[in-house]
Parts: sequence; C-alpha cells; structure tokens
Amino acid sequence: MLDYSPSEFPIYMTATFLNLSNSKSFYGGRELKYSREENPTVRELERRIAELDGFPDSLAFNSGMAAISTLFLSMAKKGILMAFDAYPTTIRLALDLKVRGFRIRLVPMEEVVNAVSREWGLVFTETITNPMLKVPDLPALAERCEEKDVNLVIDNTFASPILLKPSIYSSYSVQSATKYLSGHNDVIAGILSGNELGDLWEWRRELGTILDPFRAFLVMRGLYTLEMRVKKHSENALKVATFLESCELVERVIYPGLSSHPQHDLAKEIFRGLYGGVVTFIPKVDPSRFISSLKVIRPAPSLGSPYSLINQPISSASNIPPPMIRELGIDERVVRLSVGLEDPEIVIGDIESALRRAGNPYSNNLHGG
Ligand code: PLP
Repeated sequence: MLDYSPSEFPIYMTATFLNLSNSKSFYGGRELKYSREENPTVRELERRIAELDGFPDSLAFNSGMAAISTLFLSMAKKGILMAFDAYPTTIRLALDLKVRGFRIRLVPMEEVVNAVSREWGLVFTETITNPMLKVPDLPALAERCEEKDVNLVIDNTFASPILLKPSIYSSYSVQSATKYLSGHNDVIAGILSGNELGDLWEWRRELGTILDPFRAFLVMRGLYTLEMRVKKHSENALKVATFLESCELVERVIYPGLSSHPQHDLAKEIFRGLYGGVVTFIPKVDPSRFISSLKVIRPAPSLGSPYSLINQPISSASNIPPPMIRELGIDERVVRLSVGLEDPEIVIGDIESALRRAGNPYSNNLHGG
C-alpha cells in the first residue's frame, strides 16, 4: 500500500481488516477485524468525544436511540429508574420493555431523587428535558446515586458537553450526536460515554448498532466547531426567549436562561453560563397557522442545526398514551424552537411577523410573499 500521511483522520470505508493487522490496541486490547465491532474512524471519534465528556471511553452508535436502546437492554435486568420527563421515543422504549417484563419504573423528574434505592441498576434522566426544558437537580441526584451505589446516566443531548461535562455528575452519558455534536442537520448518530463500557461493547456488537465510518467522520468534523456553535446557539436563544417573553402574542416562554424558569438558579449553578439553543413557548395565536406563516425558520422536528427549526412536540409524542402526553404538559399549543446560528434579529423578526399574520383573521398571506 502507498504510505500517505493525511493531516485529517481518514475514513476507513472497509468492512474487514486483514489478519495481518496486529493492532491489539482496540477496545479492551481486542484485535481489529470487522467494522460491526470496531473501525478506526469510529474509534477516533470515540476517543475525542470521551475527552469532551470527561470519561475514560465512549462508544459510537448509529443513532441516539441505538445508544439508549443498547444501554437499556444491557441494564434492564438490573432495573431502570427513569425520569418520566424525557424524549417521547425514549419513554416509548421504556414502556415497550416494561410490558415485555423488564424492570423499569417511570417517575416524574421532581420525584427521581427520592425514588432512588439500591434495587435499581440505573437511574436515567435528561440534563434539559425534551421538550419542556426542565432541569433535574443533578448535584442531589448524583449524591443520592452514590449513596445507594446506583449508576446515574444522563442524556446530555440538549446541553452538550459545552454546557455540562456529564462525568461531573454521572457514571454514563448518552447523546443524540444528530444534534449539537454533528451540528449540521445531515447526520443521524449516537454516543454513549462512561466509566466501564466492556459489557456495552459486547451488546453493541451483538445488536449491530455501531456507527458507520462516514458518519463518524462527519460528527468528528462537527466537533471542531462545537464550542463556538453551542455558545452562539445559546446566546441567540437567550435573545429570542427574552423577546418572546416581552411579546403580547405569547402566553408562556420556557427557557432555562430566563429568571422566570422554575429551575433557573439550578441551571445557573450547573451550566457554564450558557443555557442551550432550544426555547419552548405557547403562542396566543393558532400554532399551526403561526408555523406556516414563518419564512426563515424551517418546520422540522430536530435541533442543533445551523438554521432555526420549529415544531409542535405533540406530533413527536403520538407514540405514547395521551394521558402521559398531558402529564408531560404537552398539548397542541406547545411549540419548540431550536434557535440556529442566524442573526437573532432575523429570527425575532420572522417570529414577530408570523405571530401577527397568524393572529390576524383577515390575513391570507400564510405561505410567503
Ligand atoms: N435523546 C434526546 C433528548 C433526543 O431529543 C433525541 C432525538 O430527538 C434522542 C435522544 C434520539 O436521538 P436520535 O434521533 O439520534 O436517535
């Protein structure tokens, strides 16, 4: 083979590795053989993210849900205590496993600390919950988990390691790398970082949930700008949230960076002066009319993209029972905005005119022009 020296880590787009390879440096000293088990590009991504998360190691998965389901399957026998305020597909996974006999209990986020006991193998919560942006008391939860010898896992997707290094509080963290880590709305990927990942490596091999090398390369590329992007997303989101709070056509604004947020003081204590790029709010006007009146902000169900995205979380929550959706505080009026990297004045201008158009019963100018 030709001996090149690339300055960027290359994409190893190959299913197998020749037995000639004597690399025993792969996971747990294992030999590099097959890309469903290990791949050098994926491994490099894992090394870089582990450093960001502050854990000894990471594993990369083909989606955030692949990371979460692999973790849940590996832990379900020991028992999972989960904060009920979470991404609806994670809730659905927990419910599906529960009806199949796994030991899983869901409790409201505010009750998790008191519910922790030795009978649970794992406690799971999101750092900033999707979509209602609650912030759990991680210092109290971490202390209680340590006291009871239970592993704490946090889904750090909304915060990213820039707001909060998960290893400060938890034994493991999961992230949808689809969001801030990759950052360009063009990749689906997941990460699990932690102190002891040997078992999980085996589960990933068995379930076949590893990330592919091309997407690992794209996530790695996103990491170079992660800090400046998350900073800008957060600054822009604070400006947009402040505007929304002052707007007469908005009933309620939820953003951890606002002093009106119920856990604002806690967020101030645990995050690094930034509060993320997502703002949830309830407009006084018809939400679908409002969304279809926007011209800059795009209607799509994700976050962490360079351009602003908006959706009605109720549409992503249709896979869980309606009483649960209500208990989460989600109804058709709730709107979730992922603030992008645009000039925030443009985003604010777009929201302001769309609210006015949607609030005006005589306006038929809904789709641009
Ligand atoms: N965790 C959270 C908090 C999420 O918001 C999402 C997706 O939106 C996931 C996990 C799942 O990630 P993915 O879509 O990459 O499977």
